Amino acid sequence: MSAHASNLGFEVGPIRPPSEANSLLVRVSRNCPWNRCAFCSVYKHSAGYSRRSVEDVHADLDAMRRLYGDRPRTVFLQDADPVQANPNDLVRILEGIRERFPEVTRITTYARSRTLAYRSVKDLRRLREAGLNRVHCGFESGSDTVLELMSKGVTRAEQIEGGRRAKEAGFELSWYVMPGLGGREHTREHADETASAVARVEPHFVRLRTTAVVPGSPLADLQAAGRFSPLGEIDTVVEIRRFLAGLEGATTRLESDHALNLMMEIRGDLPSEREKLLALLDEVLQLDAEDQVLFVLGRRAGLLHRLRHFREPGVKEQLVGLRDEWLEDGEDPETLFHRLRLQWI
Ligand code: SF4
Repeated sequence: MSAHASNLGFEVGPIRPPSEANSLLVRVSRNCPWNRCAFCSVYKHSAGYSRRSVEDVHADLDAMRRLYGDRPRTVFLQDADPVQANPNDLVRILEGIRERFPEVTRITTYARSRTLAYRSVKDLRRLREAGLNRVHCGFESGSDTVLELMSKGVTRAEQIEGGRRAKEAGFELSWYVMPGLGGREHTREHADETASAVARVEPHFVRLRTTAVVPGSPLADLQAAGRFSPLGEIDTVVEIRRFLAGLEGATTRLESDHALNLMMEIRGDLPSEREKLLALLDEVLQLDAEDQVLFVLGRRAGLLHRLRHFREPGVKEQLVGLRDEWLEDGEDPETLFHRLRLQWI
């Protein structure tokens, strides 16, 4: 049993997307078969990747049925890349889910773009027909420079091909995009190349997850070596604006559902709500420098949830007090913001 095996008679992996908070978690394989992305610490200290047998997963499902009865409505497959399983096995697992939980209306999974890019559309379609509805891919960046720097193990072309195949097979496609992943060095290329890949594939969902440098991670090593300079909070807003500007005419649903994001309100249907979102970003960019610090502090301290709350009576005065208390004389506000962000990892 893994470190995340539960006492309930079935295994549970360490993470799931925020949008799957209420889903039944079914562990198809353990850990990540790649495990080298510089920004990712989830599986770095795990025992390594392994597949689970269909029989073991079915036994988990039996235990879940006993525990949860007919309550689950959505299911999420774990860990990092369940689609790498043998397609016949995965079809049997999906059938096992539907047999035991006929009430379930949605089954989703993580998948590496590279795995999707080398699976035939025929095999992917079999998974779709067996009940898998949606794939969540850690797309992160459309820039080959950034993908290589981050040791993502996939090229822009493979990511586009993986997305194309997933859509052709009939899946809902959800791409995670990481603002700030190119650092100060590659922010423009990261924004432009990511936007052009999104415009080309038009995934059903694009979910923003702002980059954070986790202490002890390979990304922290890149920073120490002078190869990655983290973007400041406002420069990240500039980058997201550039990304969104590059999506002119593209059809997708933009989501901001991760606590690391500064502006959770940057979500909506594109292209119809694109102008509205650009205006929200501009509103922050047009604040004077002192108000920008106060707004970011309010968000990172958890006192503000939306930009509009910044305008409410008394809020600014409260934030001035907080700034004077928390920010040492001469301290770079970004250092404080970084410390505050780490609480969300
Ligand atoms: S980001 Fe995804 S593919 Fe990369 S190491 Fe983490 S789990 Fe594996």
